[in-house]
Amino acid sequence: MYRTHKCSELRIEHVGQEVTLSGWLATSRDLGGMTFIDLRDRYGITQLLFNMDDDADLCGRARKLGREFVLRITGVVSERSSKNPNRPTGDIEIQVKTLEVLNAAKTPPFTIEENTDGGDDLRMKYRYLDLRRDKVQKNIIFRSNLALETRKYLTSQDFVEVETPFLIKSTPEGARDFVVPSRMNKGQFYALPQSPQTFKQILMVGGLDKYFQIVKCFRDEDLRADRQPEFTQIDCEMSFVTQEDILNTFEGLTKHLFKATLGKELGDFPRMFYDDAMKLYGSDKPDLRFDMQFVELNDVAKGKGFGVFDSAELVVGICAKGQATEYSNKDIKKLTEWMQRPQIGAKGLVYVKFTADGVKSSVGKFYSDEDLQAWGKLYGAEEGDMLLVLSGETEKTRKRLNELRLEMGRRMGLMKEGDFKPLWVLDFPLLEWDEDSNRFHAMHHPFTSPKKNDVERMLNGDHETMKALRADAYDLVINGVEIGGGSIRIHDRELQSKNFDLLGFTKEEAEAQFGFLLGAFEYGAPPHGGIAFGFDRLCAVLNGQNSIRDFIAFPKNNQGRDMMIDAPSPIHGEQLEELGIDLKKEEVV
Ligand code: ASP
Repeated sequence: MYRTHKCSELRIEHVGQEVTLSGWLATSRDLGGMTFIDLRDRYGITQLLFNMDDDADLCGRARKLGREFVLRITGVVSERSSKNPNRPTGDIEIQVKTLEVLNAAKTPPFTIEENTDGGDDLRMKYRYLDLRRDKVQKNIIFRSNLALETRKYLTSQDFVEVETPFLIKSTPEGARDFVVPSRMNKGQFYALPQSPQTFKQILMVGGLDKYFQIVKCFRDEDLRADRQPEFTQIDCEMSFVTQEDILNTFEGLTKHLFKATLGKELGDFPRMFYDDAMKLYGSDKPDLRFDMQFVELNDVAKGKGFGVFDSAELVVGICAKGQATEYSNKDIKKLTEWMQRPQIGAKGLVYVKFTADGVKSSVGKFYSDEDLQAWGKLYGAEEGDMLLVLSGETEKTRKRLNELRLEMGRRMGLMKEGDFKPLWVLDFPLLEWDEDSNRFHAMHHPFTSPKKNDVERMLNGDHETMKALRADAYDLVINGVEIGGGSIRIHDRELQSKNFDLLGFTKEEAEAQFGFLLGAFEYGAPPHGGIAFGFDRLCAVLNGQNSIRDFIAFPKNNQGRDMMIDAPSPIHGEQLEELGIDLKKEEVV
């Protein structure tokens, strides 16, 4: 037997019992007459005591053990003289009688502790050691639990879990595909799915009614901190539903997950139209943990002789409560420089401070105190508050002010840990005009339905009309992070063809790429819609973390590499030949 107990289990009431434990040597302290070892397993840590007076030979062996040796011991539970209140097993220790080394270990390249000294790449290369850290294990176990609760909730609502294929067909729409060469069909390629979108729609045509899957998706994009080339979605689709039905179902799922994993009750989720989110927060994923809404100043700031504002399409600002005295001229200069970095690209930053000594502003020359007081009124500003105002082209200025709002929120400590502010963002634009390629892109994806009222305009409208079409598409945002998105789908062949046409597909291309779906729509496709949640991201947000990497057992680094198995890697010439791939000679190993 390897163990009678886990390393987390023993308490004062076990004193006197003989027990067997197995685990890893976490730390060892040699105090001359006594050696203490912390034995670790997934569940916790138990202190072992080797006493020179009791068994000099055993104690001598214990002293020689290194970190991360795998041990099995038997011994007797005894009360500790100096207790450790920070550890569940801190009242006891084991007086060891027998010790067996199950496996030796090389000295690990970093410490396996809460705050490790290992950098990211080292931790990823030795992920099996990193996984032994309590913090990482907790994340992985949290993830497992979140998946379980997702399954429980969705199956209780009649959803059926269906697996869809990983080897599918490459499509030009969306992100770049990862492709897999086919040996049996030389010169042809599968693609790994960016999402099971078309399959889940086909399942609805197939009458499954409610589908879900916790599924890997693959996108060959440039990586950022919160992106991975393979990631997991909670993917869902439902038949005979309106947007309202989907929002309610997935609000229910989200509430259930918060309750089941964090014990948190979330109230009803507010809803905001996309246009309002852009106008009030400059973002389609506003962080509602704090207010600081945008207020536009065109009506009051233009026409007073300040050329910069006069020539701007939009003058808009935020009010930072209580910050007037926090920001000296030097601080404002620094903040302005922060806004002028190329990542943000603001030209300047105007401030208005409401202080006990009156109004102070960088544009005081152009505006009277009364003018500036009138601006303040629009924000509900009081003494001690500070307005920060930007101007320029509408979209860019909103984007920049969004960055400033978030930065001020961070600086002012307004993004509180443990505070969760979910939000539905509704009615995204259907199409996005891309100047560079001179064509429309689907804002969500090509299967998204326009709002009912817009169908007629979509079928018959001109180019400008298309830009204004709204989609039956929605996102769930929590604390400024997009957790998921979905839409009501087109289920009518004619409308779907029209959409492909707008997106620049010829009839032949649409038929070659999506003929199966268009075909399916001719055999009684029910009205349907769905949503997908980013599962890794949901894990991170629930834990108040930014990076999804810590919630993935084997993540890739920023170059898309798996540092542990060292992938991707070249393949042999023979393998290439078998696949009918003819790389230039120098590229073949
Ligand atoms: N397939 C979509 C995505 O991956 C989600 C959906 O529309 O259901 O974003």
